[in-house]
Amino acid sequence: MNLPTYFDYASTTPVRSEVLSKMLPYFSTIYGNAGSNLHHYGWLAQEAIDLSRNQIAAYFNVKPSSIYYTSGATESNNLAIKGYLKGKFKGHLITSIIEHKAVLEIFIQLEKEGYSVTYLTPNEVGQITKDVLTNAIQADTLLVSLMMVNNEIGTISDYVAFKKVCDSHSICFHSDVTQAIGKIKFDLTHLPHLMSFSGHKIYAPKGIGGLIINSNCIINPLFDGGGQERGIRSGTLPVPLIVGLGYAFTFIPEILGFEETLSNFNRKIKEVLLCNFNNHILINSKSPNNISSLLSISIHGVHWEDLFNSLTSIAISNGSACNVKSTNPSHVLMALGHKRDLALSTLRISFSYLTTEQEIDFLIHYLESKLSKLLR
Ligand code: PMP
Repeated sequence: MNLPTYFDYASTTPVRSEVLSKMLPYFSTIYGNAGSNLHHYGWLAQEAIDLSRNQIAAYFNVKPSSIYYTSGATESNNLAIKGYLKGKFKGHLITSIIEHKAVLEIFIQLEKEGYSVTYLTPNEVGQITKDVLTNAIQADTLLVSLMMVNNEIGTISDYVAFKKVCDSHSICFHSDVTQAIGKIKFDLTHLPHLMSFSGHKIYAPKGIGGLIINSNCIINPLFDGGGQERGIRSGTLPVPLIVGLGYAFTFIPEILGFEETLSNFNRKIKEVLLCNFNNHILINSKSPNNISSLLSISIHGVHWEDLFNSLTSIAISNGSACNVKSTNPSHVLMALGHKRDLALSTLRISFSYLTTEQEIDFLIHYLESKLSKLLR
């Protein structure tokens, strides 16, 4: 077993070995530019991209032409939201206070530019309800952006209901689905109009992701250039990364087959911690609609610096990886009503189909022994 043992799959995953093998020739021997349409090297690159696009499209049951490659979810969110609003009047927008910073910061910027934004707040189990969304809609609402699975506490949103609400008001519905792929089975009949995702959360490489435009929401490009991706996202396509992304999608059904194992792991960790430290533990992942590969717990009675300084043999996060180096508490946990210190004393444990029973047992015993000392 590797030490520190990895329990941070929600922040990133390793590239699957089969995926890496598929990618490698595209760095060295099949190195053409897909834009070179006059020779064999370019054709091979284009063929590889077409295959990847088909693999992703097959997974979502959407048209291959609805997929646009980007550098990852951050860029896709920017392209979806700003690209949709470009040229429109400065109307009303809806998002939530528990979105990832890669969405939240866009709305904070848009607000400065003159849009009015409603930030929906979650209920006590971290869910945004359909009623809260419905009540927020105004006559001039242009766009709703609500994530499908929360990256810090793992709640699965009621995106089917959100989609129906948006459809009934002819509002464009964007969702950051980065944490949902490989974690939940999508309802393919009610997919959001716009979906953003990153490859590195699904055993594909970092630096590649996509935006799916599964609707007639028109997206305008955010920058000018060679007109790749049907003019929506200029820039030479990174063929090896695209090959890896498409191939990674073909393994998602297999990964979803580990659901029961992950759910047992989750239950086991929760039960042992609650049994031994009941008065000191607060479970943040408490919605009945939660992914099974993520467990967020906050710990009373220990300073967060002492907590993280002592947990050296496990690789975990205290919220989202983007917040880990800051002493700012997580905005998601604060939205759930946590005080600053409690929010900072939070362990986000995330595991995957690669996690073994032995690793979970190690984690449990390790946390038991460390917390017993810290809480003494
Ligand atoms: N959205 C969500 C929900 C995420 O979890 C992440 C990664 N932490 C991002 C967006 C940003 O992804 P990337 O850094 O790959 O652009």
